[in-house]
Order: sequence, then structure tokens, then C-alpha cells
Amino acid sequence: MQPTYEPVIGLEIHGELLTKSKMFCGCSADYGSAPEPNTLICPVCTGLPGAMPVVNKRATELAALVGLALNCTINPHNTFARKNYFYPDLPKGYQISQYELPIAEKGWLDINDSPLPRGDELSAGRQLRVRVRRVHIEEDTAKLAHEKKSALIDFNRAGVPLLEIVSEPDMRTVDAALDYATKIRAILRYLGVNSGDMEKGVLRFEANVSVRPVGSDELRTRTEIKNLNSFRALVRASAYEIERQTKVYENGGQVIQETLGWDDVRGVTVSQRGKEDAHDYRYFPEPDLPPLHLSDAWIDLIRSRLPELPEARTNRFIAEIGLSPADARFLTSELFLADYFESVLAKAKSPAKTVHSWMAGEFMRYLNDSAIDIKDLTFSPESFAQLVDMVTDKTISGNSAKAVLNEMFKNGGDPAQIVKEKNLVQVSDTAFIQEAIEKILGDNPREVAQFLAGKETIIQWLMGQVARATRGKADPNVAKELLVKALEARRK
Ligand code: ADP
Ligand code: MG
Ligand code: ZN
Repeated sequence: MQPTYEPVIGLEIHGELLTKSKMFCGCSADYGSAPEPNTLICPVCTGLPGAMPVVNKRATELAALVGLALNCTINPHNTFARKNYFYPDLPKGYQISQYELPIAEKGWLDINDSPLPRGDELSAGRQLRVRVRRVHIEEDTAKLAHEKKSALIDFNRAGVPLLEIVSEPDMRTVDAALDYATKIRAILRYLGVNSGDMEKGVLRFEANVSVRPVGSDELRTRTEIKNLNSFRALVRASAYEIERQTKVYENGGQVIQETLGWDDVRGVTVSQRGKEDAHDYRYFPEPDLPPLHLSDAWIDLIRSRLPELPEARTNRFIAEIGLSPADARFLTSELFLADYFESVLAKAKSPAKTVHSWMAGEFMRYLNDSAIDIKDLTFSPESFAQLVDMVTDKTISGNSAKAVLNEMFKNGGDPAQIVKEKNLVQVSDTAFIQEAIEKILGDNPREVAQFLAGKETIIQWLMGQVARATRGKADPNVAKELLVKALEARRK
């Protein structure tokens, strides 16, 4: 049976901006490193009467950068507004935000309408252009910690610059919403404006969800799921809401507009409050802040700072370096990884494919297993290039290279030096290898008999023995040839 209802999804994404100081005062914005609660505070960010806000210039630059990356128009004249509501984490009783004239609006982001392809097809599914309605600046709230009979409040986070990115309701599948959110996160990280550490709460999603009869273009009543702190929560909560609303309509009911929370343990959305409309916030222009006037020259300057974004870089890695789409996408997923790869490539004489396979293979395996942050590497891209080149020009075997890389990860150092110290230079000297092979075949008559009886796969095991006996120094091609010869010689 054809589905009779289709989802309509719009996302609001809140991301803190990585500035030194808060949005409207000089307090440090690095609340994650604060030694104690309520140490990074002043009259402005705790909302004391008479305290005057001042706009953080750096935050404005970062916000404009995001707007430009999302193909928005930057409003040369934009204004701040007071969004009034009462909650204990909001010391002033209002949040300074942007309402009528945000810093950026009317942009777009191209996404995929289906799960990220794991294979080599560049874009499984439909390409979809999601319109970005607006990008505006606001401030983060304080943090509440609820105890048995009381609540504690920490104002260190209050006033930290926050960016809100609002999409149009253009997404029709949960996968599309996931891809949109994933791409926004990658862009924010590429721009260096947000770490993307979702577990620290520096990036939060709100999903607006409605469903409508397939084929109609009406926008039905939506619900808004607040504070989704992971991609998983975004996916599960949206899927849950789609199913719930579909059932409501199928049973002849009406969806009511409300704000929902996501109960991750029970896997259900829970009603928090009736959704407020804009007028509930009694927005009015912030009297303590002048409008922001951004000159064309300033906007051009910010535009000139836009780095190559993940999508463009992926396409370049495919076209210029010849990587497969899946490989290119993997390397460009992290700015530092992509940069590191390109630096290695620039220094190495080996083909790009070889460099890539060492990076995606041994290098990533080590990083993942050891939980070392790639930024804390103790060796340079140049050293890594040298190592790969030594395998390419057959100075060392692939097995030895793995050992050298291990050493480099542990203690840093120069690969050529390590090769020398460990005496790993590859041996093609047939006499040396021959000797090792004869000993191994002599010691393992059972395996030799198996080979002679037709079990050819035993060669792999025997090659392993050769590698061990020669401590990885035997040139594998030479060794294999000699091994086969020696085995065949035993056929009589
Ligand atoms: P506000 O939150 O100020 O009331 P809107 O309701 O216009 O603003 O939009 C907020 C978010 O909800 C946007 O991301 C928008 O794309 C999304 N949205 C609006 N209407 C719908 C709808 N019918 N279904 C799904 N999402 C919607
Ligand atoms: Mg909202
Ligand atoms: Zn302050």
C-alpha cells in the first residue's frame, strides 16, 4: 500500500560561536574550562539593572561567515531585539536576539534525500536544495542543575554567543533532515566557528515536524521537538513524531501545535507546553544596542575568508586526485584530516592512491584504536610521506612500515632513522630468504604435506612464517617466488 501521508520537516539549529568572550560583555565564553560555577560572570551577563551590553565584533564576523557559507544574503543593516520570556536560566527576563532583521537570510544548502551512500556512488537518492530562511545572532542561557528539593544555577554559559540557523520546511524524509544537520555541523567545523561537540551541548537541534496527505502542498499544524542533542535523537524523535501524527490523522483526529521534549529512554516525545507564537514573546527592538551596519567592503572581507567547504573539497578530491567518492567523503569529513592528507600528498613521491590507502588504512586504524586526537600527532605530514615513499621504492616492506608507523605514533621521530635503528631495510638477498624458507619447511612437514595434497591457501600461512623469521625484512614478492619454488621442489 502506498503511504498516504508524507512528512514535512524544518530544522532550527543552535550553535555556540567559538569566541573568546561572551556576546555582550567581556567575560570569557570558555565556560567548559571554568574551574567553578558562577566564576565567568559580570553585571551584564547576570542581568543586573543598568548594565549595558556591547556587541562582540568577532561573533558578528563568525555569524556573517556562516551566512555566506550557507549562500545567504548578509543584511547590511541588521538589528537586535528583546525576546521576552521568563525562565530561571534567563537572568534578564528576556533574551537578546535578532528578529525583524537578522544578520543573514534567504540562503540554501544542497543535501541528499537519502542516507549517506557507503558505496561509490556520489549521490544515491535525490539531490535536494533546502532553503535557509535565516541565520541570526542571540545569546545562550545559564545552566540549571535540578536537585531533589532545589535547583542550582550556573551563569557561566549565560551570554555565550549563539547562532540560530532556521531552515524552510523543505525536508520530506528523516534521512534528508539527518543529512542537512550533518552538513551544517561539518560546515560549522570547517569554518572554525563551532567544535561540533554535541555531547558538550554546543550544537543543538530542534525539529519541526508535520505530516500531510501525499500530493498535497499544504502546511499542516506542526509540533516542535526541542533540544535534540545528538543525530540519533534527531532521527528517532522525528521518526516517532511522523508516525504519531500520521496515526492521529488516520484516526480522524487533529494534531495540536505544541512544543515537545524527547524522552530518549522511553523513545517517545512528551508534551512540554502549548507552542508559543511570536506575539507571546512580545519582541521589541533592543533599546541598548544600536543596529549593526555592515559595509560592502566588510562583507567582502569576510567572504574572502571563506575556506573551501566540504562539498567542494570532496568533488575536487574525486576530480583531481582520483579518489572514489566514498574515500573523498571520508577524508573531507574532518578539516584537519583533509588538510593533513593534502600536506602528505604534497610531500610524497608516491601516487595519491598509495598515500590514500596508507592514510585510510593503518593510519586511521591506529588513530581510532589509540584514541589519539589527530591534532596531537607527534610526526609531521612530511615524515608520513617519507614512510609511504620508502614502501613505494621498496626500501622497506609493508609489514616493516606498519612497525615504523607504530613507533612514530608512540615516540614520534624520523622514519628513516627508525628503519636504520631497527634494521628494517628490506632484503631481496635470495640466499638469506632461501635459508629462512628451508628452515620453515623443515620445521613444518605437516603444512608442506597439506600443500602437496592441494591445499594452496597454506601458502598464506607459510608466508606469515617467512615474514616472522625474517622480521618483516624479506621482500614479499621475492619470498613468495622462492617459497613456491621450494614447495614445488618437494613434489617428487
Ligand atoms: P516560528 O518558530 O517563529 O513560529 P515558523 O513557524 O515559521 O517560525 O518556523 C519555525 C520552523 O518550523 C522553521 O524551521 C520552519 O521551516 C518550520 N516549519 C514551519 N511550518 C512547518 C510545518 N507546517 N511543518 C514542518 N515544519 C514547519
Ligand atoms: Mg522554534
Ligand atoms: Zn559577563
